[in-house]
Amino acid sequence: MERIKCLIVGSGPAGYTAAIYASRAGLAPVVISGLELGGQLTTTTVIENYPGFIEGIDGPALVENMKAQAERLGAQIRMGVVTKTDLSSRPFKIEIDGSSQVEAETLIIATGASAKYLQIPGVEEFKGSGVSACATCDGFFYRGKDVAVIGGGDTACEEALYLSTLCNKVYMIIRRDVMRASKAMQERVLARENIEVLWKSSPVEILGDMSGVTGMKVATASPEDGEISDREINLHGVFMAVGHHPNSEVFTPWINTTEEGYILTEDGGVKTNVEGVFAAGDVADLKYKQAITAAAAGCKAAIEADRYLQSL
Ligand code: NAP
Repeated sequence: MERIKCLIVGSGPAGYTAAIYASRAGLAPVVISGLELGGQLTTTTVIENYPGFIEGIDGPALVENMKAQAERLGAQIRMGVVTKTDLSSRPFKIEIDGSSQVEAETLIIATGASAKYLQIPGVEEFKGSGVSACATCDGFFYRGKDVAVIGGGDTACEEALYLSTLCNKVYMIIRRDVMRASKAMQERVLARENIEVLWKSSPVEILGDMSGVTGMKVATASPEDGEISDREINLHGVFMAVGHHPNSEVFTPWINTTEEGYILTEDGGVKTNVEGVFAAGDVADLKYKQAITAAAAGCKAAIEADRYLQSL
């Protein structure tokens, strides 16, 4: 069976940064990419807060650069999904794509988080034909049409701003009377003419027919007396931006997590409860969830993996 010194699972900024550092430390890392190659950065537009890029850089370009840098330094990037793990003893046994198995002396979990979908009628039915969680992937299909973005965080603002350049009108459906997003993003959204924010509003049902989504039922609380009234909006696309859930399931038989599945690390660092297993990026980050913090954690995980191997 193939034996790998440092196996990295996940191909976002945490995984690729870990690969860059592990390569330079001579650990010959192998990265298992996961289903969402490049992670969440591939679904974003311009990133203005990653240091080193004066005018910002597109998310997909940033992560592609990280991949190329890791490969140049010697990391092997393999397409595949980890389907089973046995972390009961070292070397760890990792099954990939339900078939092949490798052994890993150290493991860095950098599997990130995936977009959540609200569980309301119509979501499952119209996923892929009007319901999406990625404006940059699917926005093109709604050129000149009306769409809605659910949520009031930075992702929702980013999605709404991007869609507003393609679509006729963008509704933002926000359940409170404030947004969670950063001030800069809020200001941009509120200044955009074809974005209409529906405050204190929640989607109740996504409506559609054979052609896909045709509308959405929304419940809005009156600002005066809080009384809730339903209305139907005609639209063709609904974009979910209501947060993410960590991709830790395949490791949870062995690795301690929070109730929501975020991997618990020692003192908020990168060490998990299993010696030789490290976690980096959004899969272990309840608080910051930034590309730069994921990259930093990837760096720490690779340094710790190297120190661990040297201590044996
Ligand atoms: P988030 O900050 O957790 O925001 C989720 C949004 O969805 C909130 O407005 C939340 O409302 C709403 N929501 C959650 N559950 C809901 C439900 N059941 N029904 C209706 N609305 C619901 O998630 P995010 O926007 O994906 O951002 C995640 C992290 O990534 C954040 O730290 C963010 O700063 C970061 N990020 C940064 C950038 C950037 O810097 N360029 C871009 C994207 C994301 P409540 O506020 O009422 O809870």
